[in-house]
Amino acid sequence: MNVKCQETVLYALVLAVSASFIGCGTEPVSSTHYVERVVYALTDSTFEGRETGTQGEGMASAWLDTEFGALGLRVKGDSASRQTFRYKPHPPMQVHGEGEGSHMGMALVTEIVGENVLYSLETEDTPFWGIVGAHYDHLGYGDENSLFRGEPTIHYGADDNASGVAGMLELAKRFDSQSSGHSMLFAAFSGEEKGLWGSNQFCETPTINLDSVRYMINFDMVGRLRGDTLAVYGTGTSPGWMELLGSCNEDSLILVPSESGIGPSDHTSFYLEDIPVLHFFTGQHPDYHKPSDTPEKINYEGIVRIVDFVERVIRKLNAEAEWGFTPTKDQDEDSTPRFKVTLGVIPDYLFDGEGMRIDGVSEGRPAQLAGLERGDVVLSIDTVQVTDMMTYMGALSLFEAGQTSEVVVSRKGATQAFTVTWD
Ligand SMILES: [Zn+2]
Repeated sequence: MNVKCQETVLYALVLAVSASFIGCGTEPVSSTHYVERVVYALTDSTFEGRETGTQGEGMASAWLDTEFGALGLRVKGDSASRQTFRYKPHPPMQVHGEGEGSHMGMALVTEIVGENVLYSLETEDTPFWGIVGAHYDHLGYGDENSLFRGEPTIHYGADDNASGVAGMLELAKRFDSQSSGHSMLFAAFSGEEKGLWGSNQFCETPTINLDSVRYMINFDMVGRLRGDTLAVYGTGTSPGWMELLGSCNEDSLILVPSESGIGPSDHTSFYLEDIPVLHFFTGQHPDYHKPSDTPEKINYEGIVRIVDFVERVIRKLNAEAEWGFTPTKDQDEDSTPRFKVTLGVIPDYLFDGEGMRIDGVSEGRPAQLAGLERGDVVLSIDTVQVTDMMTYMGALSLFEAGQTSEVVVSRKGATQAFTVTWD
């Protein structure tokens, strides 16, 4: 055991003691303080950015056990709360760490072993289940998905996705097996950043009968609520979603719905099993996948507003007799644009004007090399008009690496053209 481990054990003990006070009811902890405590705990540097397969992931999963345990939930993994998955990357992956074959703090790994952490609330009253999920893994010191180009440094992942785990735990606090109406599974997935590995594993070897699962709700990046705007993905996956969401929106959130059940997070794994899904998301920001995604930038009241809303959604949903699934358009593989090139930008998924607004540019990629900036709104690429995300992705499918294109953008109200070389 090294010094770092000892500190963490001490830290876990302190958390366990403080968690037990919540149970005793000595002093009620407000929801805002609770979600804030969760986000600060998960982004602590002892967890080293929670990269799947690392010691930091293991510490984070142990911390989750303490937290879920304090809420009185039941373990629902393959072995106690855990569900292990193994992945062999091709080619072998470079990760931070010491050990056999390591060189200057980097080691080559041929197999990555990660762990989902699964807990449940169960009732005998109905055979139905609802799943609430959030991934707890992140990018460690900056894995291949990092958008940061400096020296390796801890990627805290406060918004992505300590915020979602905090929302899930806060929600778990509010339900008990008597009043929930359904059995509920609370799933902290790992391997999400590397490609939805944990949620895929769960769907392949589920610890509950997937036929009895009526919905899956995913919190991924819910820590940056700006104003009242909340993106909700997957609204086309059940004919009832839009009406239900509208009837629960007592707080006048501005919901930005998107129908597709396919997206860059764990709900996709469940959608592909024909389960209605919803993914809640507060939008992109320049700190996305960078070390600067830190806890002091989180809107904690915002997380609680979202949890309040989702709690109402779940209570109504659990009382429904039927909840149907509908496939969304993109399930037809042929209609999904395939592309070989990208601009190297982070689109603003919440932009509802004409065009594709750039929320961030990756260093050394085509957009940045051509002079495009955050805030630019792409209006056309060569002869293709870009009106929204779909037409933008459609345009990308037309080009090959090495070609050049004229990209017209609106910048501060003026139209400008840039020459982009695709890579
Ligand atoms: Zn991420």
